Amino acid sequence: MQIRYTVRPVEPADHRGRFAIDLDQVDQPSVELVLPSWVPGSYHVVNYVRGFRGLLARRKDDASALPVERVDKARWRVRTAGVPSVHVEYTVYGHEMIDEAFDLTPDHLFVNAALCLPYVDGHLTEPVEVSLETPPDWRVVTELEEVGAHPPRFRAADYDELVDNPIDAGRPLVLTIRPAGIPHRISICGEGGNYEVHRLEEDIGKIVEASIRLVGESPLHGYTFFYHLTDVPDGGLEHASSTSCVVARNTFQPAEDYLRFLSLTSHEYFHLYNVKRIRPAVLGPFDYTRENYTRLLWWMEGATDYFTDLILRRAGLVSAPRFLEEMAKTIKRYLDVPGRRHQNLEESSWLTWVDYYQPFEETPNQSISYYLKGELVSLCLDLEIRHRTEARASLETVLRTLWTEYGRANRGLGEDELLPVANRATGLDLAPFFEKYVRGVDEIDFDAFARYAGLSFGPKPKPPDDDSPEPGYLGVRYENSGGLVRIRHVLADSPGRRAGLTPGDELIAVNGAKVTHDGFEKALKRYPPGTPLDLAIFRRGYLHHLSLTTGKTPPEKYAFAPVEHPSDLARAVYESWVGAKWEPTPKPASP
Ligand SMILES: [Zn+2]
Repeated sequence: MQIRYTVRPVEPADHRGRFAIDLDQVDQPSVELVLPSWVPGSYHVVNYVRGFRGLLARRKDDASALPVERVDKARWRVRTAGVPSVHVEYTVYGHEMIDEAFDLTPDHLFVNAALCLPYVDGHLTEPVEVSLETPPDWRVVTELEEVGAHPPRFRAADYDELVDNPIDAGRPLVLTIRPAGIPHRISICGEGGNYEVHRLEEDIGKIVEASIRLVGESPLHGYTFFYHLTDVPDGGLEHASSTSCVVARNTFQPAEDYLRFLSLTSHEYFHLYNVKRIRPAVLGPFDYTRENYTRLLWWMEGATDYFTDLILRRAGLVSAPRFLEEMAKTIKRYLDVPGRRHQNLEESSWLTWVDYYQPFEETPNQSISYYLKGELVSLCLDLEIRHRTEARASLETVLRTLWTEYGRANRGLGEDELLPVANRATGLDLAPFFEKYVRGVDEIDFDAFARYAGLSFGPKPKPPDDDSPEPGYLGVRYENSGGLVRIRHVLADSPGRRAGLTPGDELIAVNGAKVTHDGFEKALKRYPPGTPLDLAIFRRGYLHHLSLTTGKTPPEKYAFAPVEHPSDLARAVYESWVGAKWEPTPKPASP
């Protein structure tokens, strides 16, 4: 069947686009059009179909109407009555600029096909074309193969390729760089932005080159970084030849914010290897109608996060002390989550559809993010391999083996194949490590792993001149509710939990004194560990009192520090890992 889509952004001020699907060489009594309920890379089921209206079908020869039946919310059946050519029309409302979007405004169009171009059931593997009837002064940017210019027309080998290649149109700033001789476009949409073009080109070029060096080669002929500048939290969606990132328009300065931008860029770019080509066998071809389960997301996202940091270090965009400082912050975030004791990485990956993407008040107590723990288990696995192979192999060796055996070979990774690959690549038996930290919930001894690299790891001592009082600890996370402290999470095994505090409670007074959201952190400093408190709270709108004794606050900061007399092996591990000479006293961190 020939399948052609047309996108007409005719009512951009109303955010409603007109779409057409032309089907030729139809040889079946009915065709079913289906809109995906999820987008690969974003593991949650969403009612993208909510903006669809007025889907009609006509014969192409005499323009007479064909019956359309809505089989379910996202599936339409068109009775073709034996005609070979069918024209379908509908409109879609799109007004949300996130990384997976159909967004239409008077000066911008962003198309992720999964949100607005239904597929023809049974014909997912056939080539499709898409034309854009955009204003003549708009530029269309996509990594799809261009097959026509007036109007711009593109071709995808199949529906998966169409979904994997977003299309951006409007008046973007497009920069082209050629790291490793491969054209990479940087397409920036949205007003404002405190970036410097040269810096951006240079730093993204360094990330690309460091990624290629790490894996050993690039499968790309071209790549596009889509950046949409806006005011919502950062996010990115990976594709095989592009990434769509939404970033704060002023994220490019100062250095702290810029590092987050570089991390996002490095993470999404690395996915072109890990998850898009080294992919779980169940992720592609996709079932777009339902959840697609895998136990491997911890590797696909967590290891990607780890390599993201390593690449920024290898690219010279962060110093060795800064690399260690960022890793220590990640460990701190992990140690603050009680759920690490209950959920292993495989379950965390599998349950992402209801867990990571849909957190609720009990999430921190029962779950652990596969990004967060996945990154740290990757770190420890890297140190374990470097130590046991006397720095002859590393997690990079495992990645390169995955690349040659799966990514480059276009072979899906089986659910239980990662460990055998890691064993084969390193010559080690890593089963006990996987048993403890991937399939198990053993507490990770970060200090023991740090010592493989001549470092120790632990709470960062307070500076000698810091005489600030130690605040009391309740073990709650809270938010601002009209100026009041509203409890969002009560952590397991905490004073708050023992006293019976509950998510949703609004804290109004402590020992008779009024508390407000803005002053609460400071107020806790008046109640050091061991202080008895009377808490006045509103619970479901009714006044209650609770008694509680403040606990000891967990360490605020952790740090790596050099050990006194590292072995030659530990120095070699450190140097091969961090890419800097082992030094007895670390220099202060700089970006
Ligand atoms: Zn990712």
